[in-house]
Amino acid sequence: MAGTLILDTTLREGEQAPLVHFSEEQALQLAHTIDEAGVDFIEISPIVGEKQRRIAKGMLSAGLRSTVVVHCRARKEDIESVLALDPPFVAIYLSTSDVHLAHKLHLSRGKALSRAVEMVEFAKSHGLKLRFTCEDASRTERGYLLDMVRAVSEAGADRISITDTVGMMTPVAMFSVVKEVRAATKAGIDLHCHNDLGLALANSLAGIEAGATCIHATINGAGERAGIPKIAEVAMALQVLYGQRKDISVEKLASLSETFSKMSGLPTDPFAPIVGQNVFRHKGGTHLAAVLREGRSYEAYSPESIGKKRRLVVGGYSGKNVLRYLSDSLGMKMTDAQVERALARLKEKERDLFDFSI
Ligand code: ZN
Repeated sequence: MAGTLILDTTLREGEQAPLVHFSEEQALQLAHTIDEAGVDFIEISPIVGEKQRRIAKGMLSAGLRSTVVVHCRARKEDIESVLALDPPFVAIYLSTSDVHLAHKLHLSRGKALSRAVEMVEFAKSHGLKLRFTCEDASRTERGYLLDMVRAVSEAGADRISITDTVGMMTPVAMFSVVKEVRAATKAGIDLHCHNDLGLALANSLAGIEAGATCIHATINGAGERAGIPKIAEVAMALQVLYGQRKDISVEKLASLSETFSKMSGLPTDPFAPIVGQNVFRHKGGTHLAAVLREGRSYEAYSPESIGKKRRLVVGGYSGKNVLRYLSDSLGMKMTDAQVERALARLKEKERDLFDFSI
């Protein structure tokens, strides 16, 4: 498995989250920091409005290391509108599931297929890179999905996005569909997985194991409904579980979580992996005792690896070890009897008394 690519779509999918709106200045600030963290693609949808168009222009002229991908519908007027920005990479999307074809697009499968091919050929004739997104791919009849993948590949699509638009996949099902898509095209495969059942990251990783090469993510997982994978989790999972993408600064991505919370007014879940305030807090007596000897006892990755500190929570759940650690740290050698007495008092409190970093 080669190094998996990461596409950040905070400025497109993320801004589709309820209550999330970035000013032009904020959006460009986010784009620069995401770029500095080392992600591969940053996606924006300039056709949404004038603000997004100005942001896209700003990003395209900012000399970012990441490739800016402009996102639009598979419609000639949309493609012409984004071509005017002279982007290096365009992503066009069209639904492929029967439910979307019938109720959203009012198109037959055959008409959708020919429109997809026509639009891919039209965009590619302008000499740019192109991703074709099969919207609602996970609910698309498999034979038709593969026909669509083959057709847009032959029309010149450089990448194809397999989407789990309503978050209905399991990792095993995602592995299976991506294996078949992999066999049907030489184009790179993106994964755009929604998190309606909390499986977006697991499904994305399963798709990567089956041959996909790019995961879509946002800061704090922001997006429509339950959102998509959190970018810090994606980067850390690739580093910790697959030994990939050590070039990406998870520390920078994690710090963006706080920036995003301030900009949006949406707090970060304290239990969120990587960025949540509880991630390196240890509380249970046996946990504290073991962690004080060796952090790896109860940590999947070290706090230092993402610029954080380990924290100890002392209270009713504590044991003797942490009290000895505290007294030794303060240069006060407590006797066994003193430790026993202090522990008994802690237990009476039935709450957490101290929370400090070490
Ligand atoms: Zn989405």
